[in-house]
Amino acid sequence: MSLPDQAAVESHIAAFERELADAKSVRDAQTVRDRYLGRKNSVVAAWMQSIGAAPADQKKNMGRYANELKQAIEARWQAYAERAQATARPAGAVDVTLPGRVPPLGHRHPLTIVRDQLESIFTRMGFAVVEGPEAEDDWHCFDALNMPPEHPARDMQDTLYLATPIKGESGRDDDVRTLLRTHTSSMQIRYMQAHQPPLRIVVPGRVYRRDDLDLTHSPACGQIEALLVGEGISLADLKGTLLAFARQMFSPTVRVRFRPSFFPYTEPSAEIDLSCWQCDGAGCPMCKKSGWIEIGGCGMVHPAVFEAVGYDAEKYTGFAWGIGIERVAILRYQVEDIRLFYEHDLRFLEQFPY
Ligand SMILES: [Zn+2]
Repeated sequence: MSLPDQAAVESHIAAFERELADAKSVRDAQTVRDRYLGRKNSVVAAWMQSIGAAPADQKKNMGRYANELKQAIEARWQAYAERAQATARPAGAVDVTLPGRVPPLGHRHPLTIVRDQLESIFTRMGFAVVEGPEAEDDWHCFDALNMPPEHPARDMQDTLYLATPIKGESGRDDDVRTLLRTHTSSMQIRYMQAHQPPLRIVVPGRVYRRDDLDLTHSPACGQIEALLVGEGISLADLKGTLLAFARQMFSPTVRVRFRPSFFPYTEPSAEIDLSCWQCDGAGCPMCKKSGWIEIGGCGMVHPAVFEAVGYDAEKYTGFAWGIGIERVAILRYQVEDIRLFYEHDLRFLEQFPY
């Protein structure tokens, strides 16, 4: 350790200035100051101790140097503290030079993305998008679609009836039963009542069945149905339209297959199968090794439906089909559990950021 003399005073002052300039914060600077001026183990404290042990004739000189160092350091510290005070931010101040915090951006739900894609494909084909009420009367949901009250086909749809009757538009005087619509076909009836052919619409929306929520079922799910009515419309138009849709939605090489089926409101009726675009028909887990994927139902509009809305069934023909929006989303995104779409889990939903 150096003894108090002129050279040591100057060297300590220079070192102190350097260390103070390097201090990253006021707290660092205080540590530097304490190393020089602190009561114990500091440079000045050590010098004071060495003076006590020095010969009497040197004490005075050594004391002068120690005081000089102490005063020099105190003066520099004082100046530093005043500068720090002057430039310190007031409590609670906002540093406007910091980069801003960007709020996380939301995005569409995967089911909305799929619905938008479906609507986009069909509007490009000239279909209008129409929506209708989710609480329906049974005339629009069943009777007008060739399912009178005693028709066994009503049993195929596990309907959620509502207790409160609403005034229907059927012109009937008896009680109108109200229900949560089991398909968006009810809106096709409403549209035909208000418009004359030719017409082409798609009706997307939510439909309800008395299903338990499991891997593949939900009591509420999205559906999109199409209706096209005009003169000379044939099954070939139906198949061509579905083929154009499937090739835009899934794969440019996909093929459409009709399997005969039954729906009260179409005749003939068919299930729509698409050739598996993963294996091109060879068989894979997605198509359950069949090479085909069922996607919905379709058919030519039954004359009884045209009669219900006052169309001339001799003059007009048309086709209709219905597809589940969840079904398309499941195929499109390879999702195995339909419940994932409803659970609002961001770890799932953030995988569809567009
Ligand atoms: Zn396959």
